[in-house]
Formats: sequence, C-alpha cells, structure tokens
Amino acid sequence: MRIILKAAEMREAVREERSRGRRMGFVPTMGFLHEGHLSLVRESVRRTDVTVVSIFVNPTQFSPKEDFKDYPRDTDRDTQILKDEEVDYLFLPDSEEMYPGGFKTYVEVHDLQDKLCGLSRPGHFRGVCTVVLKLFHVISPDIAFFGQKDAQQAIILKRMVHDLDLEVRIEVMPIVREKDGLALSSRNTYLKPEEREAALVLSKSLEEARREVANGERDPEQLIRRMKGMITAEPLARIDYVAIVDRTNLDPVTSIEKEALAALAVFFGNVRLIDNTILQVKE
Ligand code: AMP
Repeated sequence: MRIILKAAEMREAVREERSRGRRMGFVPTMGFLHEGHLSLVRESVRRTDVTVVSIFVNPTQFSPKEDFKDYPRDTDRDTQILKDEEVDYLFLPDSEEMYPGGFKTYVEVHDLQDKLCGLSRPGHFRGVCTVVLKLFHVISPDIAFFGQKDAQQAIILKRMVHDLDLEVRIEVMPIVREKDGLALSSRNTYLKPEEREAALVLSKSLEEARREVANGERDPEQLIRRMKGMITAEPLARIDYVAIVDRTNLDPVTSIEKEALAALAVFFGNVRLIDNTILQVKE
C-alpha cells in the first residue's frame, strides 16, 4: 500500500492507474477505522481494480463547539488495517494540504443540508460536501463508497453528484452493528460503560418502529411518540431529534405508504450518536 500525503502526488498516481485502464474505487473516512469502514473498503476492493482510502479529519465539518480536537485518531493502527485489507493507496493529507491559506470556496446542497443533523450541526454538510468534492477531484473515482449509517450525508452527496454532473457513482452500504445492535461508530470509544449500555436504546427503538410498521402502524406521529418514549425512559439519553422522513427529500412524511426513513440523533453525555433504519411496508 502506498501512503500519499500530497494531493498533486495522489493525482499523478491516479493518472497513471487510469492510463492502464484501471477502475478506481474510493472510500473517504475520518479514520479510527472499524468494521463499518471496512465493509466499504472490502466492497471497493471486490468491485474495482484500485482502491484508494482517505483519512482526513475534516475541520470544516465541525462547528467550533464540536469535537474536532478530540476526535479519535490512530493513524498507525489504521495504516496496518488497510495494508491487511490490501488497499492500494492511503491518501493522508493534512489540513494545510486540503485548505491552504486563503481558502474561500464551499459547496452547499441547499434545503437538504438544513434538515435533521443539519439543524443541530449548522455548516456540517457544507464542510462534508466541500471536502468530498475536493477529494473526488483529486482521486476521480469511478465508484465512491459511503455508509447508510450517515443516511442524510449519502442523500446529500448523491444530490451533489447529480447537480454538479460528476461522473462518480455513489454506492451506499448497509449499517454495520455490534452483536447487541449498537451501530459501529468511531465515537463509540468515548462512551462510558453505562452510556454504552444505555445507547442500545437507539437500535431497540428503531427495531420497535419496524415491528410496529410490520404490525400495521402507518402513522409516523405514533411511531415517533413510541420511539421517543423508549429513549426518554433511558436517563442517560438526551434526544437531539427523532424523525420519520421521505428518503429522497428528507421531509417529514404524514403517513407511511411504501417506505420511509426513521432517523435519530441522541446524546449520551457529550457523545452524539446517530442511527437510522428504513421502514418498509410489505405488500
Ligand atoms: P467517518 O469516518 O465517520 O466519516 O465514516 C466514513 C464512512 O464510513 C462514511 O461513509 C460512513 O457512513 C461509513 N460508516 C461509518 N460507520 C458505519 C457503520 N457502522 N456501518 C456502515 N458504514 C459506516
């Protein structure tokens, strides 16, 4: 695996791979890798000729009050993991490389960026879109792999790719969970044992919503009330949002017809966790 720190060098390597007719797969991450990330990496290795993984904790997607400085990092461990996965390139730029002095250009996906996580994290998706577009320009992947864990992010990035006529195809892979249901996240490492236990209420409440839909419930208000009830019963949990929305425009649905996205964000102490599921009505 070749480790590249500079965008110009990465671009050159990509040019060379492309000149040999190789199809490029790309997995952008913020590192501190876990099996969720690796499910994307493995899919890329399986489906493309050359896999590039980037690790960059992107400062522009954190607000000043958020955990940019404390975000978990372990580049040595990540490097070894990616070598073992037979990744071809690790792109590891620093902030100066991605945002040299005088940087002033940002990408916004209006409307979609202001809902759900965007409400409590203003500027977050602007930062995500900007860095992902920059990374796409450096790596020009044929396919880029993202996780359904960040459902809103995937929807917004698909919109960006469509609106800006990018050639990359976005693939969204299912949420990888611990055996007990907790969705894997780099931030789980910051949960105290009692918070880790309490956080199970997220997947349980989503599971309950799915069960109720299977039993015929079609009223999102009812489902949200039920989920909020379960989460509030957990003293260590503090709800940011619980929502049931349309999968394309992220607007709240008034009734569950065919399918809808149930998404939530909940704090445990200072740690904000997100999770989601697709509610499907079986014919
Ligand atoms: P991050 O390092 O948190 O920016 O995540 C990098 C990519 O991994 C994003 O596309 C995430 O959606 C994806 N990802 C993170 N956690 C999971 C998970 N538990 N299951 C599947 N994909 C995930």
